[in-house]
Amino acid sequence: MKRDIKQLINEMTLEEKASLCSGLNFWRLKGVERLGIPSIMVTDGPHGLRKQGGSGDHLGIYQSVPATCFPSAVGLASTWNRTLIEKVGIALGEECQAEDVSVLLGPGANIKRSPLCGRNFEYFSEDPYLSSEMASNHVKGVQSQGVGTSLKHFAVNNQEHRRMSVDAIVDERTLREIYLASFENVVKQSQPWTVMCSYNKVNGEYASENKTLLTDILKDEWGFEGFVVSDWGAVNERAHGLEAGLELEMPSSNGLGDRKIVAAVKNGQLSEQTLDQAVERLLRIIFMAADNKKENASYDKEVHHKLAKEAATESMVLLKNDDKILPLKKEGKVAIIGEFAVKPRYQGGGSSHINPTKLENIYEEIEKAASGVEVRYAKGYDLKSDSIDEQLIEEAKEVANQADRAVLFVGLPDRYESEGYDREHLRIPNNHLALIEAIAEVQPNLVVVLSNGAPIEMSWLPKVKGLLEGYLGGQALGGAIADLLFGNESPSGKLAETFPQALSHNPSYLNFPGEEDKVEYKEGLFVGYRYYDTKGIEPLFPFGYGLSYTNFEYSNLIINKAEILDTEEVEVSVTVKNTGDVTGKEIVQLYVRDVKSTVIRPVKELKGFEKVELQPGEERTVTFTLDKRAFAYYNVELKDWHVESGLFEILVGKSSAEIILDGTVNVKSTVALFKLVHRNTTIGDLMANPILAPITKEMLAKANEGSPFANMSEDSDGYEMFEAMMKFMPLRAMVSFNSEKFTDDLLNNLIEDLNQALKNSSMVQTV
Ligand code: BGC
Repeated sequence: MKRDIKQLINEMTLEEKASLCSGLNFWRLKGVERLGIPSIMVTDGPHGLRKQGGSGDHLGIYQSVPATCFPSAVGLASTWNRTLIEKVGIALGEECQAEDVSVLLGPGANIKRSPLCGRNFEYFSEDPYLSSEMASNHVKGVQSQGVGTSLKHFAVNNQEHRRMSVDAIVDERTLREIYLASFENVVKQSQPWTVMCSYNKVNGEYASENKTLLTDILKDEWGFEGFVVSDWGAVNERAHGLEAGLELEMPSSNGLGDRKIVAAVKNGQLSEQTLDQAVERLLRIIFMAADNKKENASYDKEVHHKLAKEAATESMVLLKNDDKILPLKKEGKVAIIGEFAVKPRYQGGGSSHINPTKLENIYEEIEKAASGVEVRYAKGYDLKSDSIDEQLIEEAKEVANQADRAVLFVGLPDRYESEGYDREHLRIPNNHLALIEAIAEVQPNLVVVLSNGAPIEMSWLPKVKGLLEGYLGGQALGGAIADLLFGNESPSGKLAETFPQALSHNPSYLNFPGEEDKVEYKEGLFVGYRYYDTKGIEPLFPFGYGLSYTNFEYSNLIINKAEILDTEEVEVSVTVKNTGDVTGKEIVQLYVRDVKSTVIRPVKELKGFEKVELQPGEERTVTFTLDKRAFAYYNVELKDWHVESGLFEILVGKSSAEIILDGTVNVKSTVALFKLVHRNTTIGDLMANPILAPITKEMLAKANEGSPFANMSEDSDGYEMFEAMMKFMPLRAMVSFNSEKFTDDLLNNLIEDLNQALKNSSMVQTV
């Protein structure tokens, strides 16, 4: 329906306008009845709907209506499957329509800086490209149903410790290349209806009052068209927030925020025009929600449960499979050990905690999937406690001893990781640990299935033959695990994060979670595999890693151009073949490496991936298109992305640690970046510049006339030393060492000539 929003705003009183800028209650926005502005509802998210009827809370305490619980983001990201995530998004959108919810709060695109962050299960990856691709398709799916999303938590919310007061100090390049990049493409590709600002401060200012983030970057630079909503309770000073670009305060402030806005307009602190612009953004989305509302919408719970199973199956990652212990043969006796098998941990704690439409029991699903197999269960540990119960362990040993194989369900109980606090170590509970050790003594054919939202340490890894990372698989995890264990499906997930050998290996280790209310991101760009790879530290399991029941061979890497300008694209193709004897899915990963760079860069960065399903013997060609961003770094002086001319390696592989094929492309920058010459510019920098080198050479020759260096050429003895010493000599030193020939006036004229030459060159942009 077409409306004149500007006209509507003209008809509103100052108080009505201010009232739209905060919630009616915990989950609703205000409406204005006399003007036909409806009150819409928003709810959590992200991997299911948490619509609360009675009391509202943001910690997942009060009950909510039943909704399908899909795998958490950590699992969804491990699918690396854009289409599947979009399908999950569509299902979530359908459920929102059925429950009359206009905006689903999520997805979360924060980067996993440390494996300790209590909310890592809700975030996708340590890599901004993977994270933004996943979030983007989630948004696309939900919004295709006429329901909005809220991309959160913008920005630099990478820990729960003091999350409402901590100041995250990040340098500009790291902010752009890692932490903002994870949001940028989601906004540009999928236009979420809303963006949720985070609780924390970013470089000294609350995200909710950060004009650079909320207006300059998000809206002006990236073109975000929706409105910004505060995380629940993230508002500091309401009028400052509005000025900075925070349109909506949630939940209700019981009129306080509105009164502050009215007062600020009346006393001239806030212009009414700013308020009008905020109201315009709010109304656009409110009416979009109203216009897209589907009356009498419903959804098929069984169909969504099946989709949850499909997503769970693809989200799990096979990390170890010695002696091909998996898939388990459908014969003989199998011991199922660990309370998780009957009381599964399938979602994380906090605001994303939902009430599933049904919940599969892993043990029962195994019994169904493994007909013909004798399955016995032992509890092994008590989920409510960490203490070792010798009797439970003895019983479990007995059951394991009598079986041909044992599958152990261990991991992190709910209380170990949640929104609101971080972990302090990467260990699993003592009783889980003791159980693995005890069972390994009596049963060599041992498989471990993990339930956890983030990496753990595994001192026991050598003692087990098989390891399946189940993450938090959602309500249909049981069937998914059973199908994977018994080979009805081949595992196809790969890690979206690095598992370090020890917590201390993680790059943020020395600066996490910071001191009091300050956390400094001193590791800079070197987050996750960017650090482990560059530093040469072998992780427990690398980023992008995951096994399958079949094998894939890569061949025929073709890069369609040897050389491109940075304004052009290059296509890379590679053929993948399933050489095993079962159907499987492979995730082909493309990394880019800048061979030589004047700025510090990680050894390689993910710039493309594709997931392909192949029948035994089938092969397929996968194609990637790379544009400027695949080669660029963020230049803080230019305030833009910049490519340094030169050779780039294209690395195609199965994980960040297993590159199979490589080639190169020469990328030429259309923006040659030269700094203006001044008295302290070094001779080396001038000589490295193709425009300035000839003038500099001439100048050096003149300055050296009559000196022992005058007739030196590249073949002369001592030339190398001479050149190396000159390299770091600033221009002004020429005057100090040679004031007779090289006067200060001469130096000033030379600087002018050099800068003129730079300005005359059409390729050059000076900073
Ligand atoms: C969380 C958000 C959530 C909101 C509403 C906050 O505590 O950080 O992710 O959407 O509560 O429940």
